[in-house]
Amino acid sequence: MATLLVAGGAGFIGSHFIDRLIARGDQVICVDDLSTGTREHTEMHADQPRYRFVEADVCDGGIEAAVRGSGSMRFDAVVHLASPASPPAYLARPIETLEVGSRGTHNLLEIARLDSARFLLASTSEVYGDPLVHPQVETYTGNVNPIGERSVYDEAKRFAEAITMAYARTYGLDVRIARIFNTYGPRMRADDGRVVTNFVYQALAGDPLTIFGDGSQTRSFCYVDDEVAGLLALLGGDEPGPVNIGNPHEVTIRAFAELVIELTNSRSTIEFCELPADDPHLRQPDITLAREALGWEPLVTLRDGLQRTIAAYRTSSLG
Ligand code: UDP
Repeated sequence: MATLLVAGGAGFIGSHFIDRLIARGDQVICVDDLSTGTREHTEMHADQPRYRFVEADVCDGGIEAAVRGSGSMRFDAVVHLASPASPPAYLARPIETLEVGSRGTHNLLEIARLDSARFLLASTSEVYGDPLVHPQVETYTGNVNPIGERSVYDEAKRFAEAITMAYARTYGLDVRIARIFNTYGPRMRADDGRVVTNFVYQALAGDPLTIFGDGSQTRSFCYVDDEVAGLLALLGGDEPGPVNIGNPHEVTIRAFAELVIELTNSRSTIEFCELPADDPHLRQPDITLAREALGWEPLVTLRDGLQRTIAAYRTSSLG
C-alpha cells in the first residue's frame, strides 16, 4: 500500500485515476479547488477510510499544511493532474491556468522533494502546439504561439515540464512526465466544452453538431480507462519520460461528428462555425516509447469507447 497525493483528483481523469488507486488498496489524499472539478467525484469515495478530500488551491502558500493534515501525512507519490483542460475552461481562466501550471507545480514539487516522493506531472499534447511534425514524437519540441490565446495552457504546461526537469536535475527528484492526448469517457462535465461532450450532448438533444472550421482538422481520442492505465504504468515504471499517453487512431472532426450521429441514431444536422485561433490542424501521438518502455497501448476502439460514453451520458450529466 502506498500513500498518494492526487492534485486535481475531482476532475475527469483524476476521478477515474483515484478509482484505480482505491481499488488496489492505496491511501489517497485528493486535493482540488473544484474550479473545474466536480464535487460529486469527491463524494463517490467519501465512505472509504483510505480516502481524504481537501478542498484547496495548489497555488496557495498554505497548501503543504492543508494536504498533510493534522497527522502530518507523508507521501510516496505526488500526482499533478490539476488544471483546467478544456479550451473554453482555460480561456475563461487565463491567469489561473498559468498559475496552476507554474506556482501550483512548484508547490507540489516542493512537497515531493521534502518527502523524497515520486512526482508525476500530467502534461499535454498541447506542448507540441500546431505541430509541424506528424505524428508527434516526444523528441519534437513543438510549434507553440507564445502570445496566442491558447498559450495560457500550452506555456503553463511547458513551464511545468521545465520546472519538473529542473527538480530532477537539481535535487535528484524521481519524476515522471506524461503527455496526455485527447481523452474522453464517462464523467466529463456536460458543460465541459470539448468536442466529445459537445457533439454527444448535441446529438442526444437533436441539436446541430457545431463543427469549428471545415472539420478537416484531426484529433486522436483515447478512452479514459486506457489513459489511466497508461498513467499508472508510467507512475509504476522506470521511464521518466516525457511519454505520449494517447490513442494513435486519428480521425477528422468531420468524420468524428458523423460517427457520433450514427452511434446515437440522431437526426441532428451539422453546422459549421468559426475555427478558434491557433486550433491545431493535426494531432496524433507516436506511442512507440509508451509501447516499448511501459508495455502499454490503448485497447478500447473509438467505436466501443464512444458507445460506452454515450450510454453513460444518456443516464447522467456526470456519466
Ligand atoms: N471542436 C468542434 N466543435 C466543438 C468543439 C470543438 O469542431 O463543439 C473542434 C476544435 O476546434 C478542435 C477539435 O474539435 O479542432 C478538438 O477540440 P477540443 O476542444 O475537444 O480539444 P483540443 O484538442 O482542441 O484541445
